Amino acid sequence: MRARPGSARLPDPQVPVTALRGAGPALTARLERLGIRTVQDLLFHLPLRYQDRTRVRPIGALRPRTEVLVCGVVEHVETVQRRRRTLLVTLGDGTGRLVLRFFHFHTGFAQRFRRGLRLQAFGEVREGPVGPEMVHPELVFGAGSGTPDHARLTPVYPTTEGLSQRSLQRLTSEALAGLRDGRWALRDWLPEDLLPDTLHLKLAQALEILHAPRPEDDVAALVAGTHPARRRLAFEELLAHQLALVRLRRLARSHPAPVLEAGSRDLVTRFLARLPFSPTAAQRRVTGEILQDLARPVPMLRLVQGDVGSGKTVVAAVACLRAVESGFQAAVMAPTELLAEQHFAAFEQWMAPLGLHVVRVSGRQAAAQRRRVLEALATAEADVAVGTHALFQDQVRFARLGLVVIDEQHRFGVHQRLSLHRKGATGGSVPHQLVMTATPIPRTLAMTAYGDLDYSVIDELPPGRSPVQTVVLPDTRRAEVLDRVSRACAAGRQAYWVCTLVEESEALQCQAAEETARRLRESLPQLSVGLVHGRMSPADKDRTMEAFKAGGLQLLVATTVIEVGVDVPNASLMVIENAERLGLAQLHQLRGRVGRGSERSACVLMYHPPLSELARRRLQAMRETTDGFEIARIDLELRGPGEVLGVRQTGLLNLRVADLLRDRDLLPQVARAARLLAGRHPGPAEALVERWVGAGLRFAQV
Ligand code: ADP
Ligand code: MG
Repeated sequence: MRARPGSARLPDPQVPVTALRGAGPALTARLERLGIRTVQDLLFHLPLRYQDRTRVRPIGALRPRTEVLVCGVVEHVETVQRRRRTLLVTLGDGTGRLVLRFFHFHTGFAQRFRRGLRLQAFGEVREGPVGPEMVHPELVFGAGSGTPDHARLTPVYPTTEGLSQRSLQRLTSEALAGLRDGRWALRDWLPEDLLPDTLHLKLAQALEILHAPRPEDDVAALVAGTHPARRRLAFEELLAHQLALVRLRRLARSHPAPVLEAGSRDLVTRFLARLPFSPTAAQRRVTGEILQDLARPVPMLRLVQGDVGSGKTVVAAVACLRAVESGFQAAVMAPTELLAEQHFAAFEQWMAPLGLHVVRVSGRQAAAQRRRVLEALATAEADVAVGTHALFQDQVRFARLGLVVIDEQHRFGVHQRLSLHRKGATGGSVPHQLVMTATPIPRTLAMTAYGDLDYSVIDELPPGRSPVQTVVLPDTRRAEVLDRVSRACAAGRQAYWVCTLVEESEALQCQAAEETARRLRESLPQLSVGLVHGRMSPADKDRTMEAFKAGGLQLLVATTVIEVGVDVPNASLMVIENAERLGLAQLHQLRGRVGRGSERSACVLMYHPPLSELARRRLQAMRETTDGFEIARIDLELRGPGEVLGVRQTGLLNLRVADLLRDRDLLPQVARAARLLAGRHPGPAEALVERWVGAGLRFAQV
């Protein structure tokens, strides 16, 4: 439906693309594949690059690999029969000659080129056998004076099969014309004073520059995404996402939470007194922040970030104990069964002596046992539950859930967090939430990705850790590595041997790990070698891990199941086979398993040559630093924030225009603008969320 110019304008163009001339069902279906349903979607679908048809270039000055418009006179025409029939047309303009090369052509087409004919050609210049050439250029026959018929640069869009650049260009240009003549409007919801100084552009003006730049505009900046027009849009998009997170937070806080305070059982105090070490200053600070939150009648939503080995588990335990001494239950959710097992073991060891009942909820439990556990939770006979997401299945009911702890947040999305929140709701109140992650994220990024959470950092490792020395070796030097393992074990130390396998199937991975263990037993007959992998029964796994912990095994061969959680201070050497197959975060997590004792530790990253460029840079980063924050920074650079934060599939932070890495300098101003806008201009704030996040957010609330 189209409003006539001058009549009441439609609000923000949620106008369907079918309002554009020529957008029939076939075209609409293809646009849909690019996520374009409305005129607004089309306007936010930005060009990848531009072509310059605004200027005619002298042939004598052409450079290879540039796309240019030339104008000249046909000097020579010939058809040659090589591997395939080829038409060669020589064009001259007084400054030089250019060959136009055609492979697919009708005789009629060839006959149109006559000596003396004037024409314009647009295409990419390449080096031919006798000088510059263009293959299959676009042509305008008889273009007399050589005046180009384009005043603006031509946009080149990301597209999909069956959708030509021409169609996209034509549709976009009509969408822009509609903005100009008032068929639809894109309101500037953002008050000017909230925009950074360099970005004072109207939205329509920015779109005009992005889709149809003038030749004098800074094209390099447009393509690089650093042009103010692009950043004006990026700012608004980031702001909209930030506002959406603020809204989520408000939603999450619209219910009261139980006030959790010190109780007569003195659990927290007694626990800390019994610990064999004293908490680091960072642990104490973060624990303090958490206990303060828990004492308030609004749900805590706090993210605790701390590098591998920084001691997050103790902090989580304190929070759970506070819930229990206040008469509530706590639930601890881990991303894998193995990690849940380990948390359970630690919690039971810490809490059973204090008289607490800790239960494990697992997808793998026998029915009878599971029934007992569920019963204990439903009657408040159990105080703390540890498990994977199995914890939050429908059958699991908590009598008085006061706190939910989620470990390794980055593996869970925003949706899960929300569903969890509702899960715990009892009698009009919702549990507090503590989220822990070992993926060190720069603060500004964390605020953007988890803007609905408060944020604490454990920025200190327990004392007595020595940095892990890391070496990178090709697997052709395996003998040296074996020797190193042998010497470490002879000196009374222990070692891990991690198999990383490409096989998708867990069964094949485990088979390969068994094979590796067999070969290592053969090469190192003097050592006692153990094996853990994902296919073993939990009991067998436990037995092996226990034996390794007790020192009965010297070398532990493992698949990446040991990634998180195991803790054996005497293990001072880790060999990672085919390290090139792992991501930086995973390598960092694995390496965190050594260097836990006072002994000097080492990590050998063994790779199978040749290395890809990306893998080479990852391994180099691992060798150069053990600082989790630095590693995260490099990881961000190599992979991009969507991957690193694990938010790509969550609907939130599904950015169209902005790039978290490129535009990260805008984030502080975005945060400020979000606060001001949400406070002073709730209407425009809503409109911006609707414009940029719209469907994604509604989905997140389902
Ligand atoms: P992560 O943050 O990776 O989850 P953990 O909580 O597993 O780290 O802690 C790693 C190891 O450090 C554990 O063995 C834990 O008992 C120990 N630890 C934690 N805090 C301290 C501390 N303040 N002093 C000494 N050791 C500590
Ligand atoms: Mg941990």
